[in-house]
Amino acid sequence: MADSHQTSTRGVSMSVPRRLLARVRDVMASPENAQERLDRIVRIIAADMVAEVCSIYVRRPGDVLELFATQGLKPSAVHNTRLQVGEGIVGDIADKARPFALSDAQDHPNFAYRPETGEEIYHSLMGVPVLHGGRVNGVVAVQNRTQRHYMDEEVETLQTVAMVLAELIANGDLGLKSDSRDGTSPAGKPIRLDGISLSPGLGIGVAVLHAPSFTVDNLIAENPDTEQVRLEQAISEMHGALDEMLGADTLAEGGEHTDVLETYRLIAEDAGWLKRIEEAIETGLSAEAAVQKVQNDIRARMSQMTDPYLRERVHDLDDLAMRLMTHLMGPNGEAANIDIPEETILVARSMGPAQLLDYDHHRLKGLVLEEGSTTSHVAIIARALEIPVLTEAHNIFARIDGGDLMIVDADHGRLFARPPQDVQQAFRDSVKIREQQAATYAALRDQKAISKDGIEIGLHVNAGLMIDMGNVHSVGADGVGLFRTEIAFMVRSKLPGVDEQTRLYSDVLDEAGEKPVIFRTLDIGSDKVLPYLEAVNEDNPSMGWRAIRLSLDRPALLRQQLRAMIRAAAGRDLNVMFPMVAECSEFEEARELLQMELERERGRQGKMPRSVNAGAMLEVPSLAYQLPALCKRADFVSVGSNDLGQFLFASDRGNPRLSGRYDMLSPIGIKFLKNIVDECDRAGVPVSLCGEMAGNPVDAMALIGIGFRKISMASSNIGPVKAMVLSLPVKELELFLDGLLDLGDHSLRGHMQEFAGQHGVSI
Ligand code: PEP
Ligand code: MG
Repeated sequence: MADSHQTSTRGVSMSVPRRLLARVRDVMASPENAQERLDRIVRIIAADMVAEVCSIYVRRPGDVLELFATQGLKPSAVHNTRLQVGEGIVGDIADKARPFALSDAQDHPNFAYRPETGEEIYHSLMGVPVLHGGRVNGVVAVQNRTQRHYMDEEVETLQTVAMVLAELIANGDLGLKSDSRDGTSPAGKPIRLDGISLSPGLGIGVAVLHAPSFTVDNLIAENPDTEQVRLEQAISEMHGALDEMLGADTLAEGGEHTDVLETYRLIAEDAGWLKRIEEAIETGLSAEAAVQKVQNDIRARMSQMTDPYLRERVHDLDDLAMRLMTHLMGPNGEAANIDIPEETILVARSMGPAQLLDYDHHRLKGLVLEEGSTTSHVAIIARALEIPVLTEAHNIFARIDGGDLMIVDADHGRLFARPPQDVQQAFRDSVKIREQQAATYAALRDQKAISKDGIEIGLHVNAGLMIDMGNVHSVGADGVGLFRTEIAFMVRSKLPGVDEQTRLYSDVLDEAGEKPVIFRTLDIGSDKVLPYLEAVNEDNPSMGWRAIRLSLDRPALLRQQLRAMIRAAAGRDLNVMFPMVAECSEFEEARELLQMELERERGRQGKMPRSVNAGAMLEVPSLAYQLPALCKRADFVSVGSNDLGQFLFASDRGNPRLSGRYDMLSPIGIKFLKNIVDECDRAGVPVSLCGEMAGNPVDAMALIGIGFRKISMASSNIGPVKAMVLSLPVKELELFLDGLLDLGDHSLRGHMQEFAGQHGVSI
């Protein structure tokens, strides 16, 4: 088989892909109906690829793959054999949207035997998904009697043909649309899905499917040189348009979202990606077909990638591929400014950052993605634009239609499509109540958080992006209790140098004005990967080589960061804290590095900070047993209750099966925390807490009840927590809590709610 693949593409004889494509194109141009054309195409593919069987499965509503045409299997199976997406090897190809080649398919655990097809005599199977506009519309597969090893080029050939089939299935009259709304189809019924929130908020609107799809008419080009010239032109136009976008002021000035877009432009210049497109042109494809093919290949490979950073870059490449297509095919080569309804929920399999900016963000009430992580570029941009985002909405793209009403509840990780009237009404009410509450909290902005009995509580925000810094003032926070410096590192394509970091920290301090900022040094490792640092494979990454452990083993990185912080704080207060300190000696070692950097700065006659305070994050339970020693050396302690909780209960904070299993607001958690506060108070060292629980009014109430006088949270929680503090009688709560610490209860939540109810505390 290998020798039937002619590699010379410009020679006299045509390569297999070009010859096969030319024949398929002839069929497409014929006046036959879609079914007749499919029947002919399977025969052509089987003959050309020297396969005994070629079958086309088409996806029908309800995630069913129906055998629509075959050469080699029993004709009576056509329109009778149906597989669920995910069932059997063909179903798996559709589910994972990637090709599969097996020399002995029947041995494969996923093999689903269908006696009506007569396929038991065929051993090898190779199939590829038929992709259209990001959706899998079907599967085309070939089979052989022998245990044939299909080669990569053969897979690629079938993928190329699948592109043509995609158009036929999407646009041909296969009777697919007529039953898409029959009573048995799941379409039209309400759907409730759980997802993961990437950006908080609640949005209601009409679904718009983000699947910019192009109908590529001229798949095969006569002259590859002409296509290369077209490609070059389109690339240069695209770069021009991207530069313009980077210069535009859609987003606030500066900040990480700009860095994200800069990184994205670097990807656009990626030589490997462009080279693959050029090579695809050399096989005989037109420029636009080559872009589409390379993108299909990349997407297919993506499902096998585990590196989250690489997976995210694939989404950026998707974005760029569509942009390049627009320049190749669009009327003036301009990226379309997409028209969307007043209230839109955008639904996409995945998305790059610039694609989101193609939409009018004032109209975007929510974004739903099948794939995307907290660190994805699109999530960062969406947060900057305050658009609620849900991800991990499995298969949503295939399950809903444009125009469906949708509700995105990113605060609770829920999604509703085609919700019934009562659900719609409940959410509309909820949106109204939020607007009213937001107005109430806004009115509290300039008020200090002083309890009913006169105790002042410091309410600070957790930040990580420049965009968060604006909120310090808009919500009336007392300062920044935790600035997660690693976020700025995560969105860059290369390690930021000392000067770049100095600018960043200096901007943060400028934005904060007179309000204090606590910079946390890099907390990388675990799930926070830096694309440019060598990834280490660990069995237990959250208990692994991360945060201060990594920083002490690689002191150059930490020293550069400290140097930048010292320079940024020239003439101002510098507060630094180290994450994941497990024992006092680690803090001491880190503090020595800080001292060395201070001396270095003094030596070069730099302007020194007005004051320097170094603190430790208490996130590992062991440190709680060295507090007297720590308090002699640290200027402050900040409890990271997110990590502390996971280590105290040995319960992975990222494992959804365990979420809610243990409660830090339990006698165990609260007693542990109270001991920390008491020890710090005894030593006269300020203590605060900056984990998620600080932002929940009920938890925050208990924290104040055991003695915390400073807590730090997401800026959106400042209003509700402040309202709670203003209505709280702290001394009474202290007494109430004293009686609860030795209970054997799972949680103290109910007790807290009871107290709040009886004392009129706003929670
Ligand atoms: C924590 O662990 O509570 C914390 C604030 O740090 P992070 O959530 O960034 O790990
Ligand atoms: Mg932590």
